[in-house]
This record gives sequence, C-alpha cells and structure tokens, in this order.
Amino acid sequence: MISRGQALEALTGERFDVAVIGGGITGAGVALDAATRGYSVALLEKSDYASGTSSRSSKLVHGGLRYLRTFDLGLVREALLERQLMVKLAPHLVTPVKLVVAALEGARPDRLFGIGLNMYDVMATPSLRGRRSARRASATASGQDGEVDWSPPRHRLIGAEEVVALLPALAARQPTGGYLFYDCQTDDARLVLTVLGEAERFGAICANRVEAVELTVEGLLARDLETGAELDVTAENVVNATGVWADRIRPDELHSEAEVPVVRPSRGTHITIAQSDLPLIAGAVVPADGGRFIFALPWLGRSLLGTTDNNYSGDIDHVKPSAQDVDYLLKATNAFFGTELGVDDLSGAYAGVRPLISSGDTRKSVDISRKAELYETSSGLITITGGKLTTWRRMAKMAVDRLVERDGRNAPCRTAEIPLGQPIDPAALNPPEGVPPESVVALAARYGHAAEPVLAVAAERGELAQPILPGLPDLLAEAAFSARHEQAATVGDVLLRRTRLGLLAGRELSGPDSDVPRRVAQVLAREHGWGERRTEEEIDRFEQEAAAEGIGLR
Ligand SMILES: Cc1cc2nc3c(=O)[nH]c(=O)nc-3n(C[C@H](O)[C@H](O)[C@H](O)COP(=O)(O)OP(=O)(O)OC[C@H]3O[C@@H](n4cnc5c(N)ncnc54)[C@H](O)[C@@H]3O)c2cc1C
Repeated sequence: MISRGQALEALTGERFDVAVIGGGITGAGVALDAATRGYSVALLEKSDYASGTSSRSSKLVHGGLRYLRTFDLGLVREALLERQLMVKLAPHLVTPVKLVVAALEGARPDRLFGIGLNMYDVMATPSLRGRRSARRASATASGQDGEVDWSPPRHRLIGAEEVVALLPALAARQPTGGYLFYDCQTDDARLVLTVLGEAERFGAICANRVEAVELTVEGLLARDLETGAELDVTAENVVNATGVWADRIRPDELHSEAEVPVVRPSRGTHITIAQSDLPLIAGAVVPADGGRFIFALPWLGRSLLGTTDNNYSGDIDHVKPSAQDVDYLLKATNAFFGTELGVDDLSGAYAGVRPLISSGDTRKSVDISRKAELYETSSGLITITGGKLTTWRRMAKMAVDRLVERDGRNAPCRTAEIPLGQPIDPAALNPPEGVPPESVVALAARYGHAAEPVLAVAAERGELAQPILPGLPDLLAEAAFSARHEQAATVGDVLLRRTRLGLLAGRELSGPDSDVPRRVAQVLAREHGWGERRTEEEIDRFEQEAAAEGIGLR
C-alpha cells in the first residue's frame, strides 16, 4: 500500500470517477470492483481499515446455517457460492474448517440439524445438483467456463470417538456421536487489507483517518483526522459503504426517506479462551438459551466463542462486549462442555454491531435478513449496506453494476477472477535466525507471498524477529512492516487489526503490567519518527482504546 501522505496528495490533486466512503470489507470490495472495471477510485476511511464491523465478526465465510431457519434460502445459496470462490481466490486466507453438531449422553444427533445440513449440502455441492447445473453455477461464481471450484465433502454422521478427537473439550460429556460438516474461516481484518491491496494494484488510492464530512457538487468534503485539515475530493460518483454509519451520510436535497437506509444496529459479542482451557480441533455448534446456538471455533491458536445478537442503541464508534452477553456465552459454553469457566478465564473479548436494515418491523435483530440493500438518491449517491462479510463481492458488484448502468458502459464485473494475494508454502520461505517455525507458518497464512518482505524486515534487527507476545506467533517485524506498507499509525492498529493479538490476548496486553504496548510503540516510534513524549502519548492512547473497546474485560 502507498503511504498515507502519498495517498492524501493524490486525493486532493486528482479527479476520480468514484469516491468510496468506508474502508470495511464492503468499501474495499467496491474499490476493487470499480478499479478493475477501469474506474479511477479514491477510498476514504475515517478511522482505521476494518475498524468497524469488519474486524469484529465470527470470522466465518459461510452460508449461514441459522438463515435456513428463517428460509433465507437465496442468501444462503449466494453465500455458499461466494464461500467456494473465496477459497479459490484467497486459499491462504480463507480455509475450510470442520464443524460438529454433537449429541451427548446417549441422545441421537438432532434430526432437524440433519435436514438443515442436507439442504446446505445440496445448495453448496455441485455434484449433488447434477453435472450441468454444477458447471453453470461454478462458471457463474468463478467467471470461468466450466471450471469446478473447491467444494466441501457432504456432511456425515460420526461416532463418539471421532467427536472427541475433533472436540477434545467435550470428552467429559461422553458424546454419543454427531454430524460433521464444513464451512470456512478467515481473518476478517486481514481479508479487508488484502482486498484493499488488490484494489491499489489496480490504481485505487486509499487513505485511513480521513472522514467524509459532506457531499458537495464536485464530490465530497473530507477531513484529515490527523491534522484537522479539510480536503476537497473531486469525484464523479460517490458510494457510501459505511455499514452501520450508512444513515449518517445524507445529501442535503434528499427527496424521500426511502432513498437512504435506516440502520438498526445489533450487537454481537465474542469471547476468546486459551486452547488449553477449551481444546478444539474442529468447531462446535453449541446450544444456547432462547433456542439459539453459538459457535465454539478454533481460531489463531485460541478458542473463539460467539455470537450474541441483540438490538443495540449505544455508541457505535466503540462497542464494548456487555457483561450480560459474556455471561450468556459462558453459560452456554459451560453447560455444553461441562466446564466451569468464568470471566477470569477468558483471554479476551470483543463486540461489533451488524448493519441491519430496518424495514420498520418489530422483529428481533436475530430474525432480520442479512440481505444487502442498495439505495440511490436523486442526487446520485449510492449507498450499499447490510449483507455479510462472506457476500462482500456480491455487494460490491451490485453497487458498481449500478454505476456502470448509469454510465451506459459495457464493463462486466471481474472480481471473480482476481486472486486476493498469492499463497505460499511456508517451507519456501527463508526466515532469518531467531524467527520461530510457528511464526513462519502463521505469516504464510496471513500474508501469502507477502510474508517474504515481512521476513526481510525481521532480518533487519534481532528484536524484530521476536514474537510480540511470547506464546503467540505474531512478530514485532509486523509492526514495522504495517507502519511502512499498511498505513498502520497507532499501537491499536497493530494489535487489533494488523495482528489480532488484541482479540486473542486482550486481557494480558491491556493489563497494567504488560510491556507489549510499549514494545510495539517503540517500533512504531522508529518508523514514524516519534520522540519520547509522543511515544508515551501513543501508549496512553492504546490504553484508552483498549478500555473503550473492553478487550481486557475491565
Ligand atoms: C458479531 C458479528 C458477527 C458476524 N459474523 C459474521 C460471519 O461470521 N460471517 C459473515 O459473513 N458475516 C458476519 N458478520 C457480518 C459482517 O461482519 C458485516 O456484514 C461486515 O463486516 C460489514 O462490513 P461493512 O464494510 O459494510 O461495514 P464496516 O466494516 O463497519 O465498515 C464501514 C466503515 O466505514 C467507516 N466510516 C463510517 N463513516 C465514515 C465517514 N463519514 N467517512 C469515512 N469512513 C467512514 C467506518 O469507520 C468503518 O470502518 C458479523 C457481524 C457481527 C456484528
């Protein structure tokens, strides 16, 4: 990625075909889609990339079993096709995960789940839909004729032994058997950064910490949040991809309220637990109060549990996990696994808000559709919101198709053919001395080929080859690399979104004795030329951010 300074210069000095507001997965997708169709693109993010909902998901790239219950079959099918495509486009970043629906203590596996999983298979597996429709579906999804994408094995019944092998944490509950099925997992914030990186390869100019303040005749007025300076961005079209903030961007001459969405935020909380306290090889579907279920998933060396789903009316800039949500998750976890985990056993927690569109109904947020919606004002502003992480490419296509239609151009969507990064075999990497082998594997999964330049940074000084936090593979070199190449400016950028340590070990690194924020700040100080005072201010700033986000459960 180009530096923020260079991006700001380009933002004010050039005219753009499209200005995208919002650097979450939807905005990143719109930037990539528009740039690959030949538009000149500017993207503005008011905070950090993925700092909104796109770093706070359950990290699943999935059809969404729960939406079968609400008969959102179109959404499930679309998401399943996208899931397959994402594994193909970003195999290092979107990977299959096994999931188990276990039956306990003599019970048989729940047949309703079996029926749902059959539908899931039929919608996802080309061979079950017949060869011809398979080829058609695959060709549509991949944009290439007749090529069959990755598709998961069908779900199957498994015995008690296999359940315990996959879910060691469940051993004490004496499972009788269960269903095994497949979905995919990712690192949501890294997916956003990867899509942005590709958009930039196609010429998009992206800058974080630049807020779109208002729409103007020429494009939009923005503010550089580092300096307070105002900037005029000249753009033919503006796309509002601000997720849960989408209804805050309103043109002056709005003719009808139907031209802009009404967002109804719903908060979802997740908790993380050390694998030693809740060992999982596969994910588990865990029954929870209110007839719901939550997922317990292995993720980046921890067990990740979530999510809750409740209407939310608090501050959307900093969303804290609520104590009630944490209790709900712990209660479900303990009841299912037979554990006695308490708040003190958690390694971290985080919360995010879903950008659900209110249609004026009074349904609970859990029942509201995750369908994406496109709005267009008479002044031309296009707003795209709702949807899911999994369906980002379809959402982007919807928005850019509309631009292309307006312009009367012939420019088909190409994102189904654009690889997202480039995978690399960890064995092909040459780490400098001191880099632990598990870090090499983790870097390959996070950056693909771009792990090579990260390791080159690690080779610069012995300190940079060290893990940021002992026991987890993320390297201090990643702090320096992200400052140079990913517009990371703060300790929070590094700990919450470039690495995911803030989620995996929020309690430890936001504790009073932790030296992690200081070590990261010192690396950033060298990259950004901060003096001692600024470095101290940045450490304080992280402490405030950690408290506002509630990652340390304090
Ligand atoms: C708890 C939870 C779990 C989820 N789990 C999953 C899952 O497992 N799988 C899945 O597919 N989906 C999941 N989702 C849904 C998914 O995370 C969201 O649909 C998706 O991340 C929304 O992305 P977005 O880009 O539209 O919004 P955001 O990521 O919120 O991005 C909007 C961006 O716009 C920026 N912005 C706002 N106003 C301005 C402005 N004026 N100027 C500049 N920038 C601005 C914000 O700072 C923000 O970064 C989950 C959601 C939640 C809440």
